Amino acid sequence: KQQQKQQQGGGGKKGERLVTPKSEDFSRWYLDVVRECQLADYGPVRGTMVIRPYGYALWEGVQSHLDKAFKETGHQNAYFPQLIPYSFLAKEAEHVEGFAPELALVTKGGGKDLEEPLVVRPTSETIVNHMFAQWVQSYRDLPLLLNQWANVHRWEMRTRPFVRTLEFLWQEGHTAHATPEEAEEETIRMLRVYEDFACNVAAMPVIAGRKSRIESFAGANCTYTIEAMMGDRKALQAGTSHNLGDNFAKAFGTRYLDEAGQLQYVHQSSWGVSTRMVGGIIMTHGDDAGLRLPPRMAPIQVVIVPIIKKEADAEGVMAAVQGLESALKAAGVRVLLDATTDKTPGWKFNQYEMKGVPVRVEVGPRDVEQNACVVARRDVPGKEGKQFGVPMEAAAFVAHVQGLLEEVQASLLAQAREFRDANIVDVSSYEELQAAVAEGKWARGPWAGSDDDERRVKEETSATLRCFPFEQPQHSGVCFLTGAPAKEVALFAKAY
Ligand code: AMP
Repeated sequence: KQQQKQQQGGGGKKGERLVTPKSEDFSRWYLDVVRECQLADYGPVRGTMVIRPYGYALWEGVQSHLDKAFKETGHQNAYFPQLIPYSFLAKEAEHVEGFAPELALVTKGGGKDLEEPLVVRPTSETIVNHMFAQWVQSYRDLPLLLNQWANVHRWEMRTRPFVRTLEFLWQEGHTAHATPEEAEEETIRMLRVYEDFACNVAAMPVIAGRKSRIESFAGANCTYTIEAMMGDRKALQAGTSHNLGDNFAKAFGTRYLDEAGQLQYVHQSSWGVSTRMVGGIIMTHGDDAGLRLPPRMAPIQVVIVPIIKKEADAEGVMAAVQGLESALKAAGVRVLLDATTDKTPGWKFNQYEMKGVPVRVEVGPRDVEQNACVVARRDVPGKEGKQFGVPMEAAAFVAHVQGLLEEVQASLLAQAREFRDANIVDVSSYEELQAAVAEGKWARGPWAGSDDDERRVKEETSATLRCFPFEQPQHSGVCFLTGAPAKEVALFAKAY
């Protein structure tokens, strides 16, 4: 049946769904969406993926928005080699301990055993510090604010396209500062850049906060995170920002002469968002019919489908849709006119619905006569999402579509936020946490547990401590597990 479906391609026959309904089986739904929307395919090596053009366009959307934000906050792009001498990783004890199980090593080159194995980078703090130690001389060289767009490899055991792969694409920011305060400020600033992107571009409401010690990056003093709730209510760590302190600086001798002529270690940050973000967008917004893309991210924001039943209607309809296409293009809207003739309009409707295109425009001969068309919004299913008699006069039409795109953007964010907030439970006892997690919800409560307590919660419930949210709700100040005085509320959830 699968093969039959694939031969039909895209939208399938009328009424037939190519994706398992999300409500039936979330995991299968996700994999179906990734395959049928042609976002990615499996690579020949376990855990690797081939990113197809539609999926890559989503990643390019992430890249273009973030790259602009990085530059606006004073960062420059650079590129470091993918191969790192193994000894570099060993210089920072916690770093190598944390990453050792996930390393891919190159032991041969040009047919000969290498003197020293090379690590295929899992992240670049070590090689960056090797260079920073040479580039930073005095306080005048600081702050040093770099970013690199790159691929990294981590030998993950359980994988899922976009969410967790052996090789993934990401950006990694690496900065060096004169003082601990500046490094901390930068660490938070970049987390806020991620938060802003997630909420205002990807329409993904996230909870920003601090990771617990055991969930922090290997080699960091402190890790901050943005956590998002997926459609199955699992948490996704969508981006992280680390305050590295002077840990790597000490391991690599990254020092500067301060104004008094004293040698000081730099204080550093690093931060990353990966192709996982694409998985997050899919799993935040998708519905039974497939993808639903926020307009600011959508590679195609508007699809125009001409409806031509008789040859005699072709000329008039085509002239009208071409007019709409060029008006939208001129206004900077990402528009696709699908005038192919080998597929029916119904097939196309299904296809672009599955692919999550936010707005669809339909134009038939009657619409041409009336100089008004039909517009359907992806975020509102069925007839309710259809608008009839939308004027086709260029300026009015463009204004209408642009307004609608903004509405869809806002509505996807609001829907996701409402869903998330309805699925977070405030708990004051371990039993309440267990009950909430068993129902698939997130639990939030005052926490003063030890690392071992945290591990115990994970073992017994599969929920992990996602973060101590920056925005703390009112709370009793009594740890829900130990009864000890608690300064902060922590968020627990099952996670990807
Ligand atoms: P890290 O430097 O380990 O904090 O990683 C930065 C970000 O990359 C994390 O917050 C994740 O969102 C993402 N990430 C980590 N591991 C993977 C993976 N195996 N595949 C895709 N994304 C990942």
